[in-house]
Amino acid sequence: MTTKQRPRLLIIYTGGTIGMIENPVTHALQPFDFSHLIDNVPKVKMLGYDIDHIQFNPPIDSSNMSLEHWRDMATAIEQHYDDYDGFVVLHGTDTMSFTASALSFMLENLRKPVIITGSQLPIGEVRTDGEENLITALQVAAAIGRDGEPMIQEVAILFNDSLWRGNRSTKMSADNFNAFKSNNYPELARIGLSITFMEKNLYRQTNNEPLKVHKVLDPSVIFIELYPGLCEATLRHMLNTPYIKGVVLKTYGAGNAPSDAWFIGAIRDAVERGIVVLNVTQCVNGGVNDTLYETGNTLSAAGVVSGHDMTSEAAITKLMFLFGLGLDRDAVLRELNRDLRGEVSIL
Ligand code: ASP
Repeated sequence: MTTKQRPRLLIIYTGGTIGMIENPVTHALQPFDFSHLIDNVPKVKMLGYDIDHIQFNPPIDSSNMSLEHWRDMATAIEQHYDDYDGFVVLHGTDTMSFTASALSFMLENLRKPVIITGSQLPIGEVRTDGEENLITALQVAAAIGRDGEPMIQEVAILFNDSLWRGNRSTKMSADNFNAFKSNNYPELARIGLSITFMEKNLYRQTNNEPLKVHKVLDPSVIFIELYPGLCEATLRHMLNTPYIKGVVLKTYGAGNAPSDAWFIGAIRDAVERGIVVLNVTQCVNGGVNDTLYETGNTLSAAGVVSGHDMTSEAAITKLMFLFGLGLDRDAVLRELNRDLRGEVSIL
């Protein structure tokens, strides 16, 4: 792996377990400031990089993540884009895949690494995974390719022994060090004795446009997850949620849903009211193939659009992003059928 002489990196510390310490009264973990975190990793100095940091004030448990926090992260990257070779975002694991997906859409024409990492155990604990994750994330952010350009030019999640595309990743485990995976897209890098980049899997821009940061996301979207026993009244209630513009419908298997007239009728009514209904599978692996079964076919006939193999995190943030651009329904439908940041395989 090659790095620049003295890479300049910016750490954006948002919080999460990595920087948490135990509250002496309640014994619950709570986020702590950056100096505590970095004091626990003296090895960072051995890298020989120029590293600056900014931190959320106060740092947060990522379960409290909001659209405003995403805007703040995107703004920080925009303001410092020319000053640094790469960015490392320290983040709680709970909503890390949502943040990675959102940032990927917000940072159009990104050509520098934005590496998000965190840990399962706080960095002050003896068996922490935080130290290794932080050091490796910094090394990945500093890596340059044979052309002298940053090796990673996208938003990625570094966790344990893998680097994943951010908008393809999902948190898979609440208690395993190998907490993340991208089930429908291969690793960007394998972390072993050395860091091996899978160059053919890396995202590359096809244009020469400068970074464009989209700061407005529209939260008028909801998830509806199918389960046997869902009844018409509940479904219609959810579809009639005030002000919603989009629904991510989490369907069974290859994108299937009940074929009952009441179900299809409720969905069709929502579509006719102008709501965008996007079909993603509940399965962690594979995607929607709405021509495979009658039950998927009826959904597309009712005006539901296929989310192909997108994760639900990418699907909901893509809708927030497209509505945030102020696009009308037809334009949103058009963009949902395009791969914007490597988030979807459209055959
Ligand atoms: N609740 C924590 C968070 O997401 C969990 C973690 O960081 O692993 O901030």
